[in-house]
Amino acid sequence: MFCAPNLPGDNAKNMKIILLLLSLLVVPALAQSKPTADLIVTNAKVWTVDHKQPTAEAIAVLADRIIAVGSRADIDALRGPNTNVIDAGGKLLLPGFNDAHVHFVDGGMQLDAVQLNDAASAEEFTRRIAEQAKKTPKGAWVLGGDWDETKWTPAKLPTKELIDPFTADIPVFVSRYDGHMSLANSLALRLAGITAQTPDPPGGVIVRDAQGNPTGALKDAAIELMDKAIPPPTHEQRLNAARRALAYAASLGVTSVQHMNPDYADIAVYSELLRHGELTTRIYAAPLITEGVDDQVKIGITHAFGSSYLRIGAVKAYADGSLGSRTAYFFESYSDQPENRGLLGAEMQPLTLMRERMLKADAAGIQLCTHAIGDQAISMVLDLYHDVVRTNRGTEHRFRIEHAQHVAEKDFDRFAQMDVIASVQPYHAIDDGRWAEARIGHDRASRTYAFRTFLNHGVHLAFGTDWDVAPLNPMLTVYAAVTRATLDGKNPNGWIPEQKLSVAEAVEAYTMGSAYAEFQEKEKGSISPGKLADMVILSDDIFSIEPTRIREVKVLKTFVGGKVVWDGERNQSSH
Ligand SMILES: [Zn+2]
Repeated sequence: MFCAPNLPGDNAKNMKIILLLLSLLVVPALAQSKPTADLIVTNAKVWTVDHKQPTAEAIAVLADRIIAVGSRADIDALRGPNTNVIDAGGKLLLPGFNDAHVHFVDGGMQLDAVQLNDAASAEEFTRRIAEQAKKTPKGAWVLGGDWDETKWTPAKLPTKELIDPFTADIPVFVSRYDGHMSLANSLALRLAGITAQTPDPPGGVIVRDAQGNPTGALKDAAIELMDKAIPPPTHEQRLNAARRALAYAASLGVTSVQHMNPDYADIAVYSELLRHGELTTRIYAAPLITEGVDDQVKIGITHAFGSSYLRIGAVKAYADGSLGSRTAYFFESYSDQPENRGLLGAEMQPLTLMRERMLKADAAGIQLCTHAIGDQAISMVLDLYHDVVRTNRGTEHRFRIEHAQHVAEKDFDRFAQMDVIASVQPYHAIDDGRWAEARIGHDRASRTYAFRTFLNHGVHLAFGTDWDVAPLNPMLTVYAAVTRATLDGKNPNGWIPEQKLSVAEAVEAYTMGSAYAEFQEKEKGSISPGKLADMVILSDDIFSIEPTRIREVKVLKTFVGGKVVWDGERNQSSH
């Protein structure tokens, strides 16, 4: 509008008018004379995960973004009359944790469900289910559980006989903690029509007794036989579960999650919470490839489509089962079961169908996240990814392998060459590490949860938990990656200790690594000017305390988009 150099004639007069008009326009800005921050966090030990400026003392936030990172004096210059200043008391401030693999709504539901994971005996398992059944209204099911029979003596798979006497009119279908096996009571089997005559489905096993009758335990694809009998959660139940999960994540410093295989109804719930301003954790949702690929291709969305709070554009596939259920698919048989190499997942049979789905998703720009645990399953997924790369050239794929647990020597390089992200859950290492070697022997165990080997090969690591399979608490995950001390206390110096990571490497995988895995490394994952102000303040400096104490560290404050979504002190005083 004001093109001063082009003004003809009475330049001085014109200039005066222009200056007057300009001053009117810029008065509000001149009055403040410098930009001021909405929020300053100062007196902090900032670990930025930004290699350009690894540490700092203070940060400034405007709206939902970080605008400056520096010394206390630098940042104080951005203080204005309305700036909220938080003194961090010298505590450690990190980018918020980004959990690259969760089952978020299931996790929320689990917070209210029967807790079986720490039931240390079959008797305790029975007692807790009986108690839950008493509280359960007629028509409802007892679900969840996350039992782990390896904690019992003897470690024997549970059968329906344990629970039938207490659950005659309440159907029970409780899952093993790894999600690859569940136990039904007799009523649940009846409702699903599972009898001695029911054949094992492809990719699944109905566990049977010596007479051929189902024991109640269903493995992998056989778990789905129960699907039609269990009423789906209502909208209200999902909404409540998501709210519980959001509050829980905020309390643990988890500012982003990547929800693997959500139901569409879960995404609808997130969308509703987003509309009401209730999302306090950023979500990237990857529905099952078998359901999600055609729909997402039709809409024409691509990876990481959406807003900073809710994104879609990825699909989750399954290549095999789990080590715990002996359904992870290996080149060689299990060391303690010479006839068993595991189970190739139903989606991989026939392989051509999986390849078609992957090609279609990738060609449309949708990100592929594939569960693969056993070394052969991982190898087959890398083969499939290779086929996709050869066919769909020129796009940035950022393929992911979820879990990437047991890797064949030859395959580490292939991860790096195709930039396949290893989306790993270190807590599994200190959990499964108790018994993994007995199942697969030392040689394979040396390439199990091989985080160090991945980094040595230049592979992108993304950290997560697999909640509700493992605890959501990031401190347990960092502890696991750094110590590799198994939960039974038998490996205090680390199980396969050469695979330990440093605290800095673990934090980076949990922030920048996970951000990269969802195409968001320019938006979050480090404390850098221009990025979203997602941050945590911890009770202790995890870089200097004894690694064994990391698991006790608490989150004092969680910020998402510059807003405090968890305040540990306030929460404690209100109790
Ligand atoms: Zn999972």
